[in-house]
Order: sequence, then structure tokens, then C-alpha cells
Amino acid sequence: MIQSSPKKPVLPELLAPVGSYEKLIAAIHYGADAVYLGGKSFSLRARAGNFDEAGLRQAIDYAHEHGVKVYVTVNIFAHNRDMATLPDYLMLLADLRADGIIVSDPGILSLARKITPQLELHLSTQANVTNSASACFWAQQGARRLNLARELGLEEIKAIRAETEAELEVFVHGALCISYSGRCMLSNYFTGRNANQGDCAHPCRYSYAVVEEKRPGEYFPVEEDERGTYIFNAKDLCLLTKLPLLVDAGVSALKIEGRMKSVGYVGAVVRLYRQALDWIGEQIFLGEPAVSLQLPEIFHNELSKIGTRGQTENFFSTRPSSDDMLYDRMRIEQSWVPVGIVRNEDPLLIETRQVLHCGDQVEYLGHSIEPDKVTVTAMRLENGSSIERANPGNRVELVTDPSLNGIERHALLRKRT
Ligand code: SF4
Repeated sequence: MIQSSPKKPVLPELLAPVGSYEKLIAAIHYGADAVYLGGKSFSLRARAGNFDEAGLRQAIDYAHEHGVKVYVTVNIFAHNRDMATLPDYLMLLADLRADGIIVSDPGILSLARKITPQLELHLSTQANVTNSASACFWAQQGARRLNLARELGLEEIKAIRAETEAELEVFVHGALCISYSGRCMLSNYFTGRNANQGDCAHPCRYSYAVVEEKRPGEYFPVEEDERGTYIFNAKDLCLLTKLPLLVDAGVSALKIEGRMKSVGYVGAVVRLYRQALDWIGEQIFLGEPAVSLQLPEIFHNELSKIGTRGQTENFFSTRPSSDDMLYDRMRIEQSWVPVGIVRNEDPLLIETRQVLHCGDQVEYLGHSIEPDKVTVTAMRLENGSSIERANPGNRVELVTDPSLNGIERHALLRKRT
């Protein structure tokens, strides 16, 4: 009798945010299956850099050369004045061979369905899908993939999974809005910058105090803390430890937030989730059920080295509470920071992003979850002169102890702060 060999499990797609070409390269280097990005028009995250036509072409070509899909955000809530140029833009995206577009406005969705049926339609989190009927409705409208609202728990995700054939996408990591994703007027009210046109000024991260109406100018702290009180400041979402449950639930894609975050952040987060998913895939292949898997400690160590406002699982298991807010500061001090990007392998040349000294201990982020730990023993500028200190933006040749093996262009190095 011929025995069939075990099949490789189908893992969810790892979907990374890219606000620039450099972030795209980092996300792909560390194993994203797909990336999402915005053009200069019709995209939320207006300040993320975003891509003009030449930039879109370059990004899509690069991604496709590496077997990575590209979804373009067309997720503003459009006014009539926005619609005039939309057909040309959609046809441009189709010509550039974008794999899909991310939409939230029903008008944009219906127009895209008619004009560019070759573009996959993915429903943005801005559409706030929170129930099965809503999911089925959007699937009937032609949405192939639904990004579920961040306000759902695992049981709700499973219930929606059972009711629709549409691909389901879940945010697993990144900043959270205090309101239903982006449905918030704080930014409009304080600064005139419209969150639903991609221009949020993030006033939920400001420090607030109370003023009594007859005492203008007297600011009373909401809590007794001289650093202020960040009453709207939600911790960052992190579902790293829940990945086995999401795999088991049949989710199609896992999305990382952060088109405005740094190259170092995007690379490190993608690397962490890629490694975690691959580990889960190996365990399933070996016969372990996904639901019983617990990520080894090394994944938690890596997570602790990535910048954050603290971590919350948001609604995943239960309703969030005050423990899921960061009331006393804007963010948590980082213990490790990205310090450079490899620009050449041999000799090892990096472009620095932080001050780096001879004697500093650094970690090289390769393609295994354990980083390589080395000490910088010498640095040279490209003109050959030796230096003891490199400033951000320098291109320096590094000598390390021990020497690094298997160095790859685009890899990141980090150092302890
Ligand atoms: S102010 Fe904060 S909660 Fe409101 S839309 Fe912007 S990021 Fe979201």
C-alpha cells in the first residue's frame, strides 16, 4: 500500500505594512507573503510617504520578483469630488498589476467591480465588519477578503468563519484606535485633520488634564502623576501568542499595522511573526494540533525587544479594561533600538540609524529567531578612515567579534539602549 506523505499545512498569509520602498524591501527580506501600501491618492495614512506612479510600479515589480503580493489601499470615504479621477487611478493600478485593492467605501467598491474586475477587492477594517450577516453582505458585493473589525473576539471570528466563504483577515499587531478603527472625531476637532481621509494627528496619544470653567488656565491632573495622563492612549495590539488559535480558526491573512512606523520596526515585527508562523507550521506538520501549541520563550524575548506602547490582546479573549490602556506616558521606553541596515555583505557595510560606538554589543537579525550577538571592535568610513563613533546616516564598515557569518543585504542590526 502506498503511504501518502504528510501535507504541509496551509498557513495564513502574513501581510505587512509598507509606507516606503525601503520598508517594502525590509518586509520582503524578513518573509512577508504580501504587503499593503498606499498611492498618493485615495489612501488613508496620508503622511506615510506613500507611492507615486513610478514608485508603485517599482514596488509592485520588486514584490512580484520575490513572489510577494501587493494590495493598494483605496480606503478613504470618498466625496463626489473625489470620484472624478478614481476610474483612471483604478485602471492604473490594474495596469501596474496590483494584486488587489483595499476599500471601505461602497461607492468605490462598486465602481472598482465594474471598471477593474481583475483587481481583487479586500474590505478595509474601516468598514467595521463585526457580524456574520455583515460579512455575507460584503462577500455578495464582491469583496473577496474581509478585514474583520479589531473589536472581535476569537469565538466571533470563528462564527463568522462558519458563515462565509470569503477570506478573513485579522489584525495581529500594531496601534489601536480608542474608537472603532478610525471612527473618531478627535483629530478633526483638535486639528482639522480628518482621520477618515487618512490624516489623523493622533490626539489620542496627547497628555490631557481637566480645567474647571471658572479657573481658565488652571490645569488639574486627572491622576496624580507629574508626567500627565494619557486617558485615550490604548496599548498596542499583540496577538503573537494567539497565532496557533488563529491558524486553527481558518483565518486567511494576518495583518500587521504600521505604514508610518520605521524600517527597523517593520522588519523586526515581520521577522518575528514569520518565524512564529513557520514554527507553528512545522509543529502541525509533525502532527501537533494547532490549538495545543505554545510559542517557545525565545519568541517572547524577541517581542520584548520591539518598540511598543505596551501590549494588549484587545477583545480577543475578553473585553479590554483599564489594564489595556497606558495612562501615564505616551509609550514604553525601548530597551533595544534598530541601529543599522546592511548595505553590503563583504566587507560588512551598514547604514546607521542610531549612534554606534566601538565596543557596543549589537545583535544581527537573521532568518532564525535567535539573533547573532557580537561586539563592534572597529569601524571605518567608506573613505577608509577609522572612527570610534558613527552617527545616524553614516555608512560604515564594521568589524565584529566574533565575525558574522551568512550576512545578507537588507538585514537589520539592533543595540541595547
Ligand atoms: S485620534 Fe487616535 S483613536 Fe482617533 S482616529 Fe486617530 S489614531 Fe484613532
